[in-house]
Amino acid sequence: MQRRHFLRALGATAAGLAAMRAAFGEDSVTNYIAPVPADTGAAGNVIVIGGGMAGASAAKYLRVWGGQRVKVKMIERAPSYVSNIMSNLVLNGSRTISGLTYKWDKLVANYGVERIQADVIAIDAAGRTVTLAGGQKLPYDRLVIAPGIAFDSIPGLGTAALQAQFPHAWQAGASTTTLRDQIRAMPSGGTFVMTIPKAPYRCPPGPYERACVVADWLKRNRPGSKVIVLDENPGIVAEKESFTRAFEQTHAGVIEYRPSEILVSVDPVSKAVITTNSLMNTTQAWKGNVLNPIPRQRAPKILADAGMLNAANPNESEPKWVKVDAKSYEHLDTLHFPNVHVIGDPAAHGMPKAGHVATMEARVCADAITRYLRGDRPMDNPVANSACYSPITFETASWLTAMYQYDSASRQMKAFEYATGMFASGEAGVADKDNFDQMNKWFVQLMADTFA
Ligand SMILES: Cc1cc2nc3c(=O)[nH]c(=O)nc-3n(C[C@H](O)[C@H](O)[C@H](O)COP(=O)(O)OP(=O)(O)OC[C@H]3O[C@@H](n4cnc5c(N)ncnc54)[C@H](O)[C@@H]3O)c2cc1C
Repeated sequence: MQRRHFLRALGATAAGLAAMRAAFGEDSVTNYIAPVPADTGAAGNVIVIGGGMAGASAAKYLRVWGGQRVKVKMIERAPSYVSNIMSNLVLNGSRTISGLTYKWDKLVANYGVERIQADVIAIDAAGRTVTLAGGQKLPYDRLVIAPGIAFDSIPGLGTAALQAQFPHAWQAGASTTTLRDQIRAMPSGGTFVMTIPKAPYRCPPGPYERACVVADWLKRNRPGSKVIVLDENPGIVAEKESFTRAFEQTHAGVIEYRPSEILVSVDPVSKAVITTNSLMNTTQAWKGNVLNPIPRQRAPKILADAGMLNAANPNESEPKWVKVDAKSYEHLDTLHFPNVHVIGDPAAHGMPKAGHVATMEARVCADAITRYLRGDRPMDNPVANSACYSPITFETASWLTAMYQYDSASRQMKAFEYATGMFASGEAGVADKDNFDQMNKWFVQLMADTFA
């Protein structure tokens, strides 16, 4: 325990910060275009479903590492990609959705990824094909599934119109700007009520970050306002020390944090979130000028329809996610789902559901597929890191980082700390401007590496 505390402390100070800087570069963005080799010995047809953080990274690195005889079709339904990462900063006006929008042109031009704009509606694992809306079937040798997440419905918000009126904005886009406009329309002394779903969900620190960003904006622009945070979890899920400090000190008197509040419904007429406290068994209505209920999450329907869900949340029996072997990100049931890899938010592997992590999964997966396609086996001991910066005000941020290593017994990734302390897990000791500047550099680098 003492060693763990020591490494944790180290992570929160100089060594952790140095590790973050070493990982993401001190000053500039690398726009290095890696060549696609003519022949690496690997050959085959790979289909990637989804061009988000996971899918775009996988498509790129399959070409860079696999070479020109690995043909990659990336099937993405949207005309462009809106980054969820940094989208909380749209709420305080410091970023825009158009500034967070990315295209795949460079993946096509620089790496020879074939981009198909279409909706994949079915997967036939036995026949090794995917079906597009419109009926066309495409064959594959290896399939990478990276479609992000789906949201559970919230009682009381049964129609698309009501969902638009009370946006969760957990999939960045038009709903994020709607939420921003609603916050701007709040009166001084108003109330913003948000809910946090039971973990696991996309981006563990994200909702706490949102509470801070909104509180900071309200404090400056709508004095006397409050942010009520109703968390289904028994406590802060990620960056506990940073967010406790933010809630109790930086935003004291503005943020009211309530753990163990299970979302029952939303009453659109009285504009209230109804919750039951799981410890006290009491039910309460929380009225607000703006409601931001973030629903519980699961793997998208396409994975459920294909029968691929095999992992339930703690204390639940319904499978909602796809447990994979984190050595290659293959489905655990290789008999029924041969050559099928699942990466990004729908995959369960021991690491958080986050964009930075998704790009790590994509690399390990692309490397494993490249090896398979030249008759080899995946690497035995992949490592990955998770890195996250969280804005606490419009100009300060905290951070969290962790290293993971493959555990062959569980076939999952496990957090570990190097004996040197160089890459110790940890979170920022303080939220400051320096971290905020580093956050912007990390983001530019991450997106450049994913989409260029
Ligand atoms: C507010 C917020 C803040 C966040 N902040 C951070 C952060 O600071 N750091 C971090 O690391 N992560 C952060 N995240 C989490 C991060 O955005 C996700 O973990 C990441 O986007 C997951 O990548 P993905 O590729 O799995 O899914 P996505 O990025 O959602 O991509 C999925 C893609 O698949 C496409 N698709 C889906 N189904 C189909 C289909 N059937 N056919 C064709 N295309 C399909 C979609 O159109 C989409 O483009 C944040 C999330 C939110 C909501």
